[in-house]
Amino acid sequence: ENMSTLSINNIDHASKDSFPLCMKRLHVVLRSEHHLKHQARQQYGLFLKGAGLSLEQALTFWRSEFTKKIDVDKFDKQYSYNIRHNYGKEGRKTNYTPYSCMKIIMGAVGFDEYHGCPYKHTSSQALKQLLEFSNISAQCIQDILNLSQNGHYQIACTKYFEAKHGALPSATAINHPNQFFEESQKVKGH
Ligand code: SF4
Repeated sequence: ENMSTLSINNIDHASKDSFPLCMKRLHVVLRSEHHLKHQARQQYGLFLKGAGLSLEQALTFWRSEFTKKIDVDKFDKQYSYNIRHNYGKEGRKTNYTPYSCMKIIMGAVGFDEYHGCPYKHTSSQALKQLLEFSNISAQCIQDILNLSQNGHYQIACTKYFEAKHGALPSATAINHPNQFFEESQKVKGH
């Protein structure tokens, strides 16, 4: 399957196989709760833009989830501006950059928020559950939990990449969620 262009048709598949855990979790929460708070929308929305999701597709994607809980008018008033803004279509027309791991890891995350880096901001119990849903071996899960408990968040993420792909990324370690996605596409031959 060609995933060189991320679209609403392949996003569920891509989220399982090619997204780092931080983004995979945001995708799952958005699909199940039909809502994400502001910081989570920024983190995930900019990642999707960096991964190639077009503005039109992004608006359709977010609208289709949010309007399961709120009406279309409310969505268009409250949320579509921000999405267009992130694509440089509103306000100062800045082309906003997806967040790096360092920015995500250093950010603050409240108890009822889902953005951030799961290797840093999630309890070991919740992290273990996330990993158990990811089809990787018990040994890998244990290694990743140990790395994350010892503060080696990006090495834990690199280990997760290796467990999912049977190969290491070409760079020494993961330092950007979009790098994770691009490396994954490379390994999968897209
Ligand atoms: Fe996401 Fe980076 Fe954390 Fe990996 S290390 S889960 S890419 S923030």
